[in-house]
Amino acid sequence: MNIDFSKSAHGLIPAIIQDSETKNVLMLGYMNAESYQKTLDTKKVTFFSRSKLRLWTKGEESGNFLNLVDIKNDCDNDTLLIQVKPEGPTCHTGSDTCWQETNNQEYGFLSKLEKTITLRRENASSEKSYVASLFEKGINKIAQKVGEEAVEVVIEAKDDNDDLFLNESADLLFHYLILLQAKGFQLNDVVNILKSRQK
Ligand code: AMP
Ligand code: ZN
Ligand code: ZN
Ligand code: ZN
Repeated sequence: MNIDFSKSAHGLIPAIIQDSETKNVLMLGYMNAESYQKTLDTKKVTFFSRSKLRLWTKGEESGNFLNLVDIKNDCDNDTLLIQVKPEGPTCHTGSDTCWQETNNQEYGFLSKLEKTITLRRENASSEKSYVASLFEKGINKIAQKVGEEAVEVVIEAKDDNDDLFLNESADLLFHYLILLQAKGFQLNDVVNILKSRQK
């Protein structure tokens, strides 16, 4: 790749670090020719640290390495887009990105469902939907529904009617998503806790 390190002061060019799967921007660092080469050789993203004034392999202390997936040069060869698979949180503050974002993971259909629930909640008073009416009734009612559906799952688990078990499971998951939103959370907040326990 034809990267123009000489164009910028001190031979440093910015490298935007992007999660190859979620496409989230994780951080920004600077590279010189040597750190770029080391990144290619080791497949661990290595910057030239402007504060440490030396090569800095992200994760060298924390173990939160950025595993190289792909490097793309920009239109005039002076900015890199580096796609990675991150090991653990990228920011030293412990958040997934350097912009305090919790990873906005997509959970396919469940994310779509969460968005629909949000819409119903935002228009709770005007909508004549089941979900809207639950939000109208408030948190106690929603929590109670989760409890009821959980009990139904327990009951069906003891039976051997797969169809009933799966349907009650769907009820539980659905009402659980509503409860999470009523408390101001998303599925992602729970998933992040599960991930952090997996160390
Ligand atoms: P690490 O490279 O993750 O082992 O972290 C080593 C040191 O680099 C930390 O103590 C921070 O000072 C700094 N650092 C780590 N991650 C970041 C980041 N995403 N942005 C800026 N500085 C960082
Ligand atoms: Zn450019
Ligand atoms: Zn950071
Ligand atoms: Zn049910």
